[in-house]
Amino acid sequence: MSDSADVRRALASWVSYLGEIGVRELELREAPRAPSAAEVPPAGDAPALLAAIREDIGDCRRCKLCDARTNIVFGTGNPHAELMFVGEGPGADEDAQGEPFVGRAGQKLNEMIRAIGLTRKDVYIANVVKCRPPGNRDPQPDEVGTCSPFLFRQIEAINPKAIVALGSPAAKTLLGTKAGIMSLRGRWASFRGIPVMPTYHPAYLLRAYTVENRQAVFDDLKAARARIDEAS
Ligand code: SF4
Repeated sequence: MSDSADVRRALASWVSYLGEIGVRELELREAPRAPSAAEVPPAGDAPALLAAIREDIGDCRRCKLCDARTNIVFGTGNPHAELMFVGEGPGADEDAQGEPFVGRAGQKLNEMIRAIGLTRKDVYIANVVKCRPPGNRDPQPDEVGTCSPFLFRQIEAINPKAIVALGSPAAKTLLGTKAGIMSLRGRWASFRGIPVMPTYHPAYLLRAYTVENRQAVFDDLKAARARIDEAS
C-alpha cells in the first residue's frame, strides 16, 4: 500500500476515534508537521523514537492547556518497559517538576508498583495530556483529541506487554469508550492489540482509602504483573 494510502487510513481511523470519544471540533493552533521518512527512527529503537516524539511536541501550543502550564510533562521510565502506566494529566507538582506522578498520588503509585515487585525504573509512566488542566479538572475532549496521538506514539514506540490505565480519562481514551472506571475496572481490554487493565487512579485511592478499593487495585496490578510474566 502507498504511503499516502497509509496516511489516509490512519487519518480516517483517528477521526473516527475522536467522534467516538465525543470530539466535535478541534482547535489546532499550530499545524503539526509530519516527519519525513528520513527523520523517523527505525521501529524497535524506542529511545530514539521517544526522543523524536518529544522533539515533535516541542514548545507545544496545539491546545489551550498550553496557556497555564509551567512544564510539558512528557513521560518517564524505561523505554523498553514491559509494563506501562497511563494517567490522565499532570497535577500541580508534576507541572512544577516536569515529571509525571511525583506528588502524593505519585508516592501512592510508587507503592503500587513496588507491591508487584517492580520499581519506577522498570516501567514507563505517561499521561493522556502533557500539560496540566487548570484546577486539576479532567482533560476536555478537544484537549484529549489533540494531545493523545503523542501518547499513542509513545505506546507504539515502547510496545509494552501490558498497560495499566489509571482512572476514567485514561481508560476511556485508550479503549475508545464512554464507560466509566467503575464498570471497566478489573477487566482486561485492549489498545491496538496490547492488553489494557483499567484500575482506579491513585488519587482516587487516596480519597477513598478503603480495604475494598486497595484490594481491587492490588488485584488489578497482580493481574498485570502475571500478564507480563506470561508473555516473557
Ligand atoms: S496538552 Fe498536549 S497538545 Fe495541548 S499544549 Fe500540551 S502538549 Fe500540546
